[in-house]
Amino acid sequence: MTVTRLLMPAARLAPGALELPPAVAHHARVARVEIGEAVEVLDLAGTVAVARLIAWEGRSCRIEVERLERERGEPPEALVLGLGILAGNVFDWAVEKATELGATVIVPLLTERVQGRRHEARVSRWRRVAQAAVAQCGRSRLPDVPAPVALAPFCAAAGGARLVAEPGSPGPVAPLVTGGSGLCVLVGPEGGLTESEIALALGAGFRRLSLGPRILRAETAALAALAAAQQLAGWL
Ligand code: SAH
Repeated sequence: MTVTRLLMPAARLAPGALELPPAVAHHARVARVEIGEAVEVLDLAGTVAVARLIAWEGRSCRIEVERLERERGEPPEALVLGLGILAGNVFDWAVEKATELGATVIVPLLTERVQGRRHEARVSRWRRVAQAAVAQCGRSRLPDVPAPVALAPFCAAAGGARLVAEPGSPGPVAPLVTGGSGLCVLVGPEGGLTESEIALALGAGFRRLSLGPRILRAETAALAALAAAQQLAGWL
């Protein structure tokens, strides 16, 4: 059985007894955690408390923290995904999977072929999706999901080894050297990136990445690119 993971953003976790507030204890109750069973408490900022449930006390509960684990499940350096905003709940799916794959920043990109408007209203939902994925996969940090940005500022801010996923790129890319500045992967929306957007990325130091001789859906490409980049950097 998988251990029940409880989210307590910004909690001050330390070994020893800890009283969980009702909102957090509620999750343990819903998960039917029994006295003596293992739980983990995540502060979402890099610390996981490995603990055991000691007692139910009304709507709250007491746990005993046995040890702390730091940076569990995190990539060695920043792993940034810039992804053109996708319609409907497909972007939710991409956020969930990118979180599982270790992305530390997931940037919703407003590129030329992004459909629809008012994407800012969707950000809080994407952040909730990322939180749930952190709890599910047992990593220790919540990836940052900033408000949507245009491609030019995204490219200007990008650092480390940079890759733009583009069908028809010459592959394979040589092993990546990140120099401590991380990886940054750029993937277009359903309609792809335009010629001028590719030129912008190449001008900002991105290299083309091929994901094989088929056209992938953007969300598939995002996951494949995150896995391929980490493999090329020797992180997997
Ligand atoms: N309509 C576009 C395809 C867009 S696919 C066309 O026909 O060219 C959406 C995004 O997924 C692309 O912008 C690219 O970043 C990525 N992608 C899809 N297939 C890919 C592949 N084989 N290699 C690299 N990137 C790919």
